[in-house]
Amino acid sequence: MPFARTIKLHRSLSFRLTLWYGIIFSLSSCLAFLFFYVLITTNLRQRLDSRLSDKISEFEAIYNLQGLEEVKSAALIESQAAGEKKIFFRLLYASGVAFSSSNMTYWQEIGINRNAVGQLVEGRSRVYETLTIAGRPDRVRIAYGIIGKGVVAQLGYSMENDTAFIAIFKKIFLITMSALILTAVLVGWFMARRALSGVEAVTRTARQISESDLSRRVPITARHEEIDRLAVTFNQMLDRIERLVVGMREMGDNIAHDLKSPVARIRGMAEISMSGASSIGDDLTLAGSTIEECDRLLDMINTMLMISKSDAGAGDETLEPVNLADVVRGAMALFGPLAEDKGLTLSGDIPDVLMVSGDLKMLQRAVANIVDNAIKYTPSPGNIDIRGFRDKDVEMINVSITDSGIGIDVENLPKIFNRFFRCDESRATGGFGLGLSLARAIAHVHGGDIHVESSIGVGSVFTLCLPQLQSS
Ligand code: ADP
Repeated sequence: MPFARTIKLHRSLSFRLTLWYGIIFSLSSCLAFLFFYVLITTNLRQRLDSRLSDKISEFEAIYNLQGLEEVKSAALIESQAAGEKKIFFRLLYASGVAFSSSNMTYWQEIGINRNAVGQLVEGRSRVYETLTIAGRPDRVRIAYGIIGKGVVAQLGYSMENDTAFIAIFKKIFLITMSALILTAVLVGWFMARRALSGVEAVTRTARQISESDLSRRVPITARHEEIDRLAVTFNQMLDRIERLVVGMREMGDNIAHDLKSPVARIRGMAEISMSGASSIGDDLTLAGSTIEECDRLLDMINTMLMISKSDAGAGDETLEPVNLADVVRGAMALFGPLAEDKGLTLSGDIPDVLMVSGDLKMLQRAVANIVDNAIKYTPSPGNIDIRGFRDKDVEMINVSITDSGIGIDVENLPKIFNRFFRCDESRATGGFGLGLSLARAIAHVHGGDIHVESSIGVGSVFTLCLPQLQSS
């Protein structure tokens, strides 16, 4: 494996999870081993001690019934029967001096622990010790006990059986644990990979996404709930980004399209002026037209800035109680003559008071934009009807502006609030395609929205919904 990949692997979450899993499993296994080891060795020692103690008790009984000589011969027989390399006996005086023993050829290094004999004299019934003898693999367990008046028996037993048993136990444990730890690491690795496979899918999709291909989505498996939730959230975020990028692209196209004509006109006028073919009067007219075009462009730029500010929620709006009914009546008074000139009937049914909390100027602009559109896109003869009402169920104030105009294609309906979007049919009329974007941004700033229903050739209904002022 290349070095860089090894480093990458070491840093991966799967690797760290597996490592932790392996470490915790190994530590638990070691603790389990230690526990069983202590349990087994203690048990073996207790069993051995009890056997040695029983033997001493036996000698004690023989001593009491048949005397010391019988004890000596019983001890000899016992050591020969069990094996002289396995067991030895010594009989001592209370002073610690030996006066009889079994064959001690193999036990020469083992002396007499006077301290142990002293403890017996002081009243202890048994004293044990374990000795390690240089050059011999197995340790020796020694027991001391008084078998009669002034006579102490010392018994030694090679612990070779116990040592062999513990060695086998260690070996089995080591093999089993190695296999189990290996399996645990493999299972841990598999589980970590499986759990994180969803994260990897998200990462892979994120890597594959480029600006030109935003259509990819993370597959949802419905297997791991948390990962699926992440995938769903990630996909929703991608949907939003895709919509945003597509919208921005469309907006870019529209801006280019809408800027081209005024800039071309300004350039044309400047060219005529420069050519010297025009009179002073013509030049003044050209300058006036240039200023007009520039004003239109400035208006467009200012509207864009206002939409951006409102969208970002960083507008300069000052929220105060506003009677929306007054705002609508003001718009009707302002646009009445324009509608009349165009041969349209402008009617209204508005209650006296429709209180909302808002910025008066912004609300005036939003209502004006919608009414202006209704007039713009309704051919004569036609009517525009404005109604204001309170939706008590949801505590909203609604103002609906219904026109009998050209209507909007179903396909275009979701797009009309996009910046610079204009339906093809309306390209002939003046405008930048910013009016509705601004109106909706204003509605959003006020915690409301604008809804639209429309059908081609029949007309449109735009409804501005705003939360009603609580105290009203
Ligand atoms: P514009 O400056 O083009 O009026 P708007 O943002 O106000 O920009 O409106 C966007 C587009 O929505 C318009 O170009 C028009 O095609 C469509 N539209 C808006 N209001 C109406 C309406 N009342 N009837 C028909 N079409 C409309």
